[in-house]
Amino acid sequence: MIRAKAFKAYKEGRWNIHGLMQFNVAKIKENNFCWYCGKEMDPKELTIDHVFPRSKGGDNDMDNIIMVCKSCNSSKGNMDLFEWYATVRKEWPPLYILTHYLKNIYLYCEEHGLMSKHSYELDKMKLPFNWKYIPLTFPQPIEYYPELFNAEP
Ligand SMILES: [Zn+2]
Repeated sequence: MIRAKAFKAYKEGRWNIHGLMQFNVAKIKENNFCWYCGKEMDPKELTIDHVFPRSKGGDNDMDNIIMVCKSCNSSKGNMDLFEWYATVRKEWPPLYILTHYLKNIYLYCEEHGLMSKHSYELDKMKLPFNWKYIPLTFPQPIEYYPELFNAEP
């Protein structure tokens, strides 16, 4: 189903090398684990989550679709992804989720002319993400890949 969707998007020119193609290629090829919690499982057990919830205007484009376990999917529900990681899971998202979500927010803001809006203007708008949960500081590489920094000089 995902492959058919990807092929359709590719054929219609909506899926190109400027988007998140590499991420999506990996997502399609290696969908034997939940992208939110990392738990490995049979691909048949995975469910489709919309990064920007459908109820908040998220679409069915490849960039907005991610394969996750039933548990994460129902736990997250319609919450903002950063809000869910911060308040429910109380941890940083995996690096690929962090960058993927930021890219989606960035592309949405570019597309909708939000880059120079003030926060009070954003508050009046119906957005598919909650800007208040966008982190102001980020984990450093050593926090994600400590093994890379443990080598003796
Ligand atoms: Zn999960």
